[in-house]
Amino acid sequence: MAVKIAIDLDGVLCNVVKRFAKMLNLPVDHEPKDWNYSGEVPLAEIKRVLKEFETHPGMWRSLEPYKENKEALAKFLRTRNEVEVYYITARAGVDVLSETAIWLHIRGLLTARTTVIPIQPNHSKADVIEAIGCEYSVDDRDLNVLTAAAIPRHHAYLLDRPWNRRMKCKNRVNTLQEFLEIIP
Ligand SMILES: [Mg+2]
Repeated sequence: MAVKIAIDLDGVLCNVVKRFAKMLNLPVDHEPKDWNYSGEVPLAEIKRVLKEFETHPGMWRSLEPYKENKEALAKFLRTRNEVEVYYITARAGVDVLSETAIWLHIRGLLTARTTVIPIQPNHSKADVIEAIGCEYSVDDRDLNVLTAAAIPRHHAYLLDRPWNRRMKCKNRVNTLQEFLEIIP
């Protein structure tokens, strides 16, 4: 049976933080130390930006990729075409499925062995990962990794980012390449 893996999009392949920085008038490469930009940006301002994401058509499609991660995955898909890849995303907004598929397609990240699965925001990715039978997953959100790690016979990895360093996680990888090299 094919190995199945789940890959998160925002914070792993798509650079949402860079867009946030622009919308929040922060330096372009600014990365927050936690999810809420605590002590940096008022919560109301964060909510305003999130609302903009959800209501503007084309927002998701226009995100920049994390170049190294994108290239590592494109190579993996070319060379490991027996592996099934599931992009599970809880992003909200206009035409999430098509916007996401277009973004991935343009970058050579959609193949016959890949599937995009948008779930509703705040629903459990782990439930989907378990239902599909994914054996490996990678995410930049600590909570997602914690819940996925509880799935029997599943290996959940946290992609290191400034906003998840408070979490103690033994399965922490520094790059997507590092995660992909683990896949048997
Ligand atoms: Mg993410």
